[in-house]
Amino acid sequence: MEILIPSLLRIKPNALFKIGKYLRLCGYTEVSVIYGEGIKDLFYSTIEISFASSEIKVVYEEIALSSNIDEAFTTTKKMPKSVKAIVAIGGGKALDYSKFVGHILHLPVISVPTVISNDGFASPLSSMDVDGKKKTLKTRIPHGVIVDTEIIRKAPERFIYSGIGDLFCKVTSIFDWKLSYKKTGEIVNDFATVICKNAVDTFIYYHNKDLNNTEYIGIIVSSLLMTGIAMEIAGSSRPASGSEHLISHAYDKIAAKPSMHGLQTGVASYAVSYLQGSQSYEQLKNIIQKSNFLDFMSKNPLNKEDFKKAVLYAPEMKENYYTILSEKDSADKIMDFIENDEYMKIMMV
Ligand SMILES: [Zn+2]
Repeated sequence: MEILIPSLLRIKPNALFKIGKYLRLCGYTEVSVIYGEGIKDLFYSTIEISFASSEIKVVYEEIALSSNIDEAFTTTKKMPKSVKAIVAIGGGKALDYSKFVGHILHLPVISVPTVISNDGFASPLSSMDVDGKKKTLKTRIPHGVIVDTEIIRKAPERFIYSGIGDLFCKVTSIFDWKLSYKKTGEIVNDFATVICKNAVDTFIYYHNKDLNNTEYIGIIVSSLLMTGIAMEIAGSSRPASGSEHLISHAYDKIAAKPSMHGLQTGVASYAVSYLQGSQSYEQLKNIIQKSNFLDFMSKNPLNKEDFKKAVLYAPEMKENYYTILSEKDSADKIMDFIENDEYMKIMMV
């Protein structure tokens, strides 16, 4: 089994100023840049100076406005032969789009997220629109990940809380994977679970959880990055995606106004932790409070009725995917919990 890991890795303040230097170190002197919507205006002057000082030539440029698979195939046809790497700058959509294009063309992708709202910036998967439906497709883990922690810190806080939710929810996804082993014999990759668990623990036990603390931002980013590596090692999203993700996917379909991925998986993770027993539950209860996720959700709650429907619909989201929601009486217990738990009442209306 071949396991890929990002060869170029920079997570630090003002990393964007040095992007040209990093690309030159890798020998990527002619690149294609794919921006997210509105991103070029914000960062072009920094990038232009950095590219010019390291003599990096941009031979193709595009703004990724969607994650439509047909448009991505059109991009693959437009890409000049001289391109040595694709530099993806922006949020999830631009990165997913670029990872897919890079995968088709066998070109390395340098992921430069400007927000951290989920684990996608360093995962080997792309969420794409295929015939009007969202599909998660296997692509390649980015060859490089450059994260300017100052940019992440200054982004609206909903993005980072979403990233935090997509990080601590690995407590319940790892539990579900091990449960599936006990109940169905599904193979668990122990190394992937250890990496994933360590990543979450590093975040949980970090002392100064202040969003103005750039070091804390770096911890969140590097922990999410490690969960991306865990997926690569596992060969699937299993270590990073359990029952809480099924509920979030169902909520995306059902809710009149879906929220952000990591906010949904974070709330769902707390809900399913109640079914998984005291260890998961106590850990989640502690972390949603200490990271201020609970406080943030009190101001940005999910819709309770939509969430309850999503819980019932969740097991149908993926076939042959055993989670705690596959257990008898899970739905009844979780409905009770949603109605009566003090934190659930805070996080949804
Ligand atoms: Zn996720």
